[in-house]
Amino acid sequence: MTKLLICGSAAAEAVPGVFCTCPLCLKALEEGGKDIRSRTAYQLGESIRIDLGPDLFYHMVKFGLRLDKLRELVITHNHRDHFYPDELANRRQGMSKVPEGAVLRVIGSPIVVEQVKNTTDPEKSLLKFESVEHGSKVMLHGDVELTAFQANHGAPESLFYAFRTKEYSLLIANDTGWFPDQSWDLLKNFAFDAVILDCCYMHWDQRHGHMGGDSFIACLEELRKQGSLKENALLVANHFSHNPNLSHEELCSWLTPRGIEVGFDGMEIEL
Ligand SMILES: [Zn+2]
Ligand SMILES: [Zn+2]
Ligand SMILES: [Zn+2]
Repeated sequence: MTKLLICGSAAAEAVPGVFCTCPLCLKALEEGGKDIRSRTAYQLGESIRIDLGPDLFYHMVKFGLRLDKLRELVITHNHRDHFYPDELANRRQGMSKVPEGAVLRVIGSPIVVEQVKNTTDPEKSLLKFESVEHGSKVMLHGDVELTAFQANHGAPESLFYAFRTKEYSLLIANDTGWFPDQSWDLLKNFAFDAVILDCCYMHWDQRHGHMGGDSFIACLEELRKQGSLKENALLVANHFSHNPNLSHEELCSWLTPRGIEVGFDGMEIEL
């Protein structure tokens, strides 16, 4: 059994946004709980992390993560809520005692790889790289097959990913709007046990860059129609903006009756 941990579940500004006085941010600050959302990232087992944004330290402390055990870092795109390469410079000798031979493989688009190389000396930080593009397949630690898909998002070379082993098949698709045609085609080769999908704007109608609730539901229906979802697949909405001003409870009241779970910081998914 592998565990996927949703480390963060918010868009770029987090909830509460540090300078924001919208009703949701003020409520989150006052009441805490599932309305506190850090920047979206995931950990798959002990060795694979998906995205490294500005909340890595918070995730480590909050969830007691041993980040020295990470072997692969998979980056979706270079927006600042998902990619903060400066933190990797702290792996250098003299700044961290990284166990000998504990090489971290950074997997992402050529732009992402280039940015890490410009931030720190890969050799001194014990980093290796794998450039990927739509259609790339890479074998990860634990016989996990990674597949990259083109996203519909503002940042250049934005990707989303599938993770497949003999036991499970998982899709993590944020940040993206309605998928490009080539991604829909490639997704026909998969039947997912669990899907985590961008639902950034909920009741705001949005189809490009991110998804609102209607396109989120339509996207799941399309996945089901083309055979990319197993019958009892777990469906999770994630990467929520504070801007539509919906609390966790309000998100649940719309999504739960539709058979969809609302992602939150600390949610664990058993695969
Ligand atoms: Zn984002
Ligand atoms: Zn706010
Ligand atoms: Zn983004």
